[in-house]
Amino acid sequence: MAESISTLERAIQPGQTDEYMNHAVTSPRLPIPIAEGQLTIHQVPAWQDNFVWLIVSPQRKEAAAVDGPDAKEALAACARLGVRLTTILNTHTHGDHIGINTDLSEKLETIHVIGSASRAREIPGLKQPVSDGDQFELFGTTVQVMLTEGHLNGHVSYLIDNALFCGDTLFGAGCGYLFDGPPVKMLHSLKRFANLPGNTWVFCAHEYTADNLRFAWSVEPDNQQLKERIQHTWVLRSKGEATIPSTIQLELATNPFMRTSSVAIQQALKKAFPERSFASDLEVFAAIRELKDLKRYRNIDDGELPVNIDIV
Ligand SMILES: [Zn+2]
Repeated sequence: MAESISTLERAIQPGQTDEYMNHAVTSPRLPIPIAEGQLTIHQVPAWQDNFVWLIVSPQRKEAAAVDGPDAKEALAACARLGVRLTTILNTHTHGDHIGINTDLSEKLETIHVIGSASRAREIPGLKQPVSDGDQFELFGTTVQVMLTEGHLNGHVSYLIDNALFCGDTLFGAGCGYLFDGPPVKMLHSLKRFANLPGNTWVFCAHEYTADNLRFAWSVEPDNQQLKERIQHTWVLRSKGEATIPSTIQLELATNPFMRTSSVAIQQALKKAFPERSFASDLEVFAAIRELKDLKRYRNIDDGELPVNIDIV
């Protein structure tokens, strides 16, 4: 067992820069073992900033892909690892998440596709519709389904041991756009994540952390852990490395969308929207989302951020 895991770990190594040249991440993370080593999570960059997460059972030599804009990189990673792609877990129905299903349409008869029951008709090849609170087995390990709407209706997240696959709901230092909304649904989803153990890995679907941190700093510039996260993120990104996965603990400390009780953030909102009241969590959350969507923070120069360029 140990030997087969280490073989898998060697299969995708940071520094395979030629393969991911067009992706924000050119050096993917090393695989992360979960469920006492029964599964390893592999980060597969795809398109410009998507991540396909491969959940691999070294023992069974099988893999499940969580979402994907297409199948190319996931299949190439499976080939390198010597495993078969037997399962797809879809979080939601945006094209850069179910593109992998469409790409594999000729093989979908032999691939077990799991996705949201409430959007069943839009998920190509869906075999197992799931709903909030469902549990099922994946390669001998239990998966829990959470309905986490706000980005898109029917969006589901999957919790396996201490690994959360949250699609476009929670991002590193941010959250998904409220395409379907309303804000109360996203707030509810993030509050459910906030109640997970702090050491839960956050395997979200995009590398957006640096942009999100620029906004986070604009509303909470004195948050020490946020400053440290910015420093660390700028170092990682300067080397083409990923900032994902993060953890629930880190998001609670630095993600403004999970920090509606922060006095500093509330003061920043009062300044931005002087006519508004911020008596409830929901009002604060909705205003954070609106302020970020204005994208004024993108005018902040790197020189203003707490980044020590010397260490990069
Ligand atoms: Zn999406």
